[in-house]
Amino acid sequence: MTDRIVAVDLGGTQVRAALCDREGQILKRAAQPANATEGVAAVFARIVASVREVAGDQLRVRGIGVGAPGPLDPWRGVILQAPNLPGMTDFPMKARLEKELGAPAFVGNDANLAALGEHRHGAGQGVAHMIYMTISTGIGGGIIADNQLYLGWRGFAGEVGHQTLDAYGPRCNCGNVGCLEALAAGPALVRYARDALRGGRDSKLRAQVGLHLDQLTGAMIAQAARAGDGLAREIYERAGFFIGLGMTNLLHNFDTELFVLGGGVAIHAWDLLYPPMLAALDKYAMPSMRHGVRVAPAQLGDDAGLLGAAAWVNEQMINDK
Ligand SMILES: [Zn+2]
Repeated sequence: MTDRIVAVDLGGTQVRAALCDREGQILKRAAQPANATEGVAAVFARIVASVREVAGDQLRVRGIGVGAPGPLDPWRGVILQAPNLPGMTDFPMKARLEKELGAPAFVGNDANLAALGEHRHGAGQGVAHMIYMTISTGIGGGIIADNQLYLGWRGFAGEVGHQTLDAYGPRCNCGNVGCLEALAAGPALVRYARDALRGGRDSKLRAQVGLHLDQLTGAMIAQAARAGDGLAREIYERAGFFIGLGMTNLLHNFDTELFVLGGGVAIHAWDLLYPPMLAALDKYAMPSMRHGVRVAPAQLGDDAGLLGAAAWVNEQMINDK
């Protein structure tokens, strides 16, 4: 029996696959565009093709792990709803893959599996209690409690981006208002900058984009913040504040030891977000609970989800025995 595992990261734009060993080494990779608009059958065919590409047609693997977006049932391996993959509703991914490829398959929420990846092979190694937050176009996460990925009642746990931090705040993609995601994810920062410029705020950003406010990007705001621009600095200080406030709530609920932050916004603007994040944690967390808690950047980048999916297969197969 081989110990090789195929990990798949199913995103709205890309299907990525990797052949992994038990130690968390990636031996071979494949990637192709998801072309989600072509429908569920086409996306599923691309997943199968990606698995075969890294594993070979003989497919001598221990199992297949898939990280997928949206609410899903990690025990039955059913994707309930995937906002970026039209039509992928109540899709029995586990059963379909097992039938098609003849190997055991396991499915998990992509951010949950990234948490597991960072815990087993990245920034969270050696710590029993860790919370991972990914801050990019949205905010997701995963909770490691007592070295295990905490799934919750239905497998939906770890939606750290959808805690309401401002009951009168902006509308979130989930339908609620004032969620952390609506306050501190990439699109929220750009929206805040646009609104301020439209309202007549003075900023270096105005000279960069002129009247084309739709061309404003997070990278431009970060660059302006580093150059001392008042509005741009305010935007990152505000985002860092809300992330720190979100971490405070999580700390009070889970008594976690380590926060690991990944995703494009967190990694590329770490220097801008870290000070206000820590200031909020220091200000709002109960001192006895704040003591000794660390905040660290993720180490695995885009591989966190793949390595987490591989770890998920190993651990589920042990549990199944
Ligand atoms: Zn929300």
